[in-house]
Amino acid sequence: MDAATLHRQSVVIDGHCDTLLGLQMREQELPPYLKHLEGQKGHIDLDRLKEGGVTAQNFACFVRPQHLPSQATRETLRLIDLFHRFQAGHADDLCLATCAADIERAKVEGKVAGILSMEGAEGLEGDLGVLRMVYRLGVRWIGLTWSNRNQAADGVFEAQTGGGLTRFGRQLVEELNRLGMMVDIAHLAPAGVRDVFEISQAPVIASHANAHQLCPVPRNLRDEQLEQLAASGGVVGVVYVPGFVTDGQDPATLDMVIDHIDHIVQVIGIDHVGLGSDFDGFGGPPPIGLEDVSCTPNMTARLLERGYGEDEVSKILGGNWLRVIRQVMG
Ligand SMILES: [Zn+2]
Repeated sequence: MDAATLHRQSVVIDGHCDTLLGLQMREQELPPYLKHLEGQKGHIDLDRLKEGGVTAQNFACFVRPQHLPSQATRETLRLIDLFHRFQAGHADDLCLATCAADIERAKVEGKVAGILSMEGAEGLEGDLGVLRMVYRLGVRWIGLTWSNRNQAADGVFEAQTGGGLTRFGRQLVEELNRLGMMVDIAHLAPAGVRDVFEISQAPVIASHANAHQLCPVPRNLRDEQLEQLAASGGVVGVVYVPGFVTDGQDPATLDMVIDHIDHIVQVIGIDHVGLGSDFDGFGGPPPIGLEDVSCTPNMTARLLERGYGEDEVSKILGGNWLRVIRQVMG
């Protein structure tokens, strides 16, 4: 089977993007420090998702620091509202996915399935009732923290405190398990990651992170964390953010992203790795060969060239994500 056919037949799932934030900022007057975004088309839009053969795209609700702490819930709701309004306006091309069957139906119908997530628990304001209500609004993945400290835990910027999950953070993981929502450890400091593996009864995911062994920055996962994630049955989505791909001087490339996939496969096998681009979540030049979401078929072609089998490539493209989505979300 050629790469284009394999790509077209596969369920392709991207575990993280910040496109909602870009959409929101384009709806509003851009604040002065984001003026550099003006006129930029970003990495993701519906046409390019389709061109890239993406079946399901996770859309994160990220509350910008200037809204913290007092406007966290309002900002989260505004981003959820933005997704629903955008989806309603493009219902022939985009649907909301809250379970595996929604993604499979989207594949058949040629639509893009949008999965809603929160990047950081700030918007919950330490209240499980708010969590249960955002569940009703369609949110299914919760990243416990972004890089800062919040009511649930410390993010990687606060790693030196050694702080793990708070009492609320522990209750949150239990409630996520009960509701059938993803527990996402991307951005979480190591002590919290350890706590999550101890508490969660369901697979644990890292929606967008790479291998610390190849690029030793705090956001990337060490081999023992990868092993724990695999033991839980979860998936790590490889991230395209250049600074998490390489700490060298040369520009990041598609091949360097695949080096992270290779390493993760070596450490924990083929069943626990997927894609987690972080498109529209970073500035500066994207990896060569992964300039925007329309380039996703390059991943398929290059994985085949580097010796992965067709089944293995399909697992990396989205099969592994779909398995965990079915197990956790239903
Ligand atoms: Zn992130």
